[in-house]
Amino acid sequence: MPEGDTVWLAGRRLHDALAGRALTRSDFRVPQLATTDLAGRTVTEVVSRGKHLLTRVDDDLTLHTHFRMDGSWHLYRPGERWRGGPDWQVRLLLENEDWQAVGYRMPVVELLAREDEHSAVGHLGPDLLGPDWDPAEAVRRLRDDPERTIGEALLDQRNLAGMGTVYRAETLFLRGVHPRTPVGGVEGLDHLVRLAERLMRANRGHPQQVTTGNNRRGAQHYVYERARQPCRRCRTPIEAEEFGPPGQERRSYWCPTCQRGPSPTDDADAKNARPHPR
Ligand SMILES: [Zn+2]
Repeated sequence: MPEGDTVWLAGRRLHDALAGRALTRSDFRVPQLATTDLAGRTVTEVVSRGKHLLTRVDDDLTLHTHFRMDGSWHLYRPGERWRGGPDWQVRLLLENEDWQAVGYRMPVVELLAREDEHSAVGHLGPDLLGPDWDPAEAVRRLRDDPERTIGEALLDQRNLAGMGTVYRAETLFLRGVHPRTPVGGVEGLDHLVRLAERLMRANRGHPQQVTTGNNRRGAQHYVYERARQPCRRCRTPIEAEEFGPPGQERRSYWCPTCQRGPSPTDDADAKNARPHPR
C-alpha cells in the first residue's frame, strides 16, 4: 500500500502537470460520477493529506482520491500509450493540452463541494509531510490509548497521517521498540514520531523508500519484508507477524534481539525463574 511519501510525490507531479490550467476533457469511469464533466474547469492545486489526494477545481470543487492497496496516478503525453494496467482498471482521466492524468484502481473517487473537504480528511491526525505537521499533537493522540500496541497505533491515520507498514517497521527497528509494545510503555515517543517524519521526508522526492542509506535493491530496509533474513546489526533472523484490528491486520517485521518484546516475554522469564515445586 502506498504511504504518505508516495502520495506526496504523486500529488506534486499532478500539481505540476495540471494546476493553473483548464481541463480539456474528463472521463469518470465510476458509476456515481459517470455523467460528470469537468472540461473547461481549471485545476487550482493538487495537495496530499496523509494518503489522500485532493485535486481542487475552480474555487468550489474538490476531487478526492485514495490509492488504498494498489491505486496509482499515471501521467502521459497525449498520444502516448497508457501502461498502468488494463483499460478496465482505469477509474478516471483528467486531461489538459499537454497532459493526460490517468487514475488506476482507485477505490475512492468522489467529488466534493470545497467546504465539505473535512468529510474526507477531517478525521486525520497531523500529516507527517504536511505544512501543519505537529509532532506534539501526534504524540498526544498516540498516548490517548496507552494500552494499544504501538504497531497498531502508528497505522491509525487518526493519530498521524501518512504512515504505513514500511515506515512503521523501519522506525520501530531504529528506535529498538517491539511492534507489540503498548503505547504507554514506549520510551521517547516524541523521538519516534520525529524519526518517522525524517525518514519519510528524505524519501518523498523519489519513488524508492530507503531507510538504510543504501539504495541497492534488497539493501534498502532494515527489517521490512526481510523475514528470516539476518538482522543487519546483530545477525538474528528477522521475525514477521500479521496483527491489527479484525479486517485490518498488517504484517509487522522486527528483530527479536534489537527490539525487545513487551511484557508477555517478561512474564515468561519470570515464570521460568520460579523454582519448580518438588
Ligand atoms: Zn538485531
